[in-house]
Amino acid sequence: MAANYRYWCGECHHRTSWRTEAEGADEQVRHYARSHLGIPVGGRVEVRDKTGGGGGGCLAVVGVLFLLVVLTPSCQHKAESQSRGPAFNLQVVVPVAD
Ligand SMILES: [Zn+2]
Repeated sequence: MAANYRYWCGECHHRTSWRTEAEGADEQVRHYARSHLGIPVGGRVEVRDKTGGGGGGCLAVVGVLFLLVVLTPSCQHKAESQSRGPAFNLQVVVPVAD
């Protein structure tokens, strides 16, 4: 396994050294536990391009996920989850007693 991942802290300018994905993530988690207790682990991961690399499935996904969470530049995938009312229209007719 090549050490092609460097994790950057999202709270300060700490970064790990080049490590494998698992090692880097582990170091990032420990850094947060040490320096930013109570803050969800964030930041971003820098992936070093290996020459002629074809990309490896889940590793790339994790990198993309990190980038999406942190950067989210022009293409924001904000699902509009506005809770609308029910899609029916009930008319309640109350007879007036006189
Ligand atoms: Zn930090």
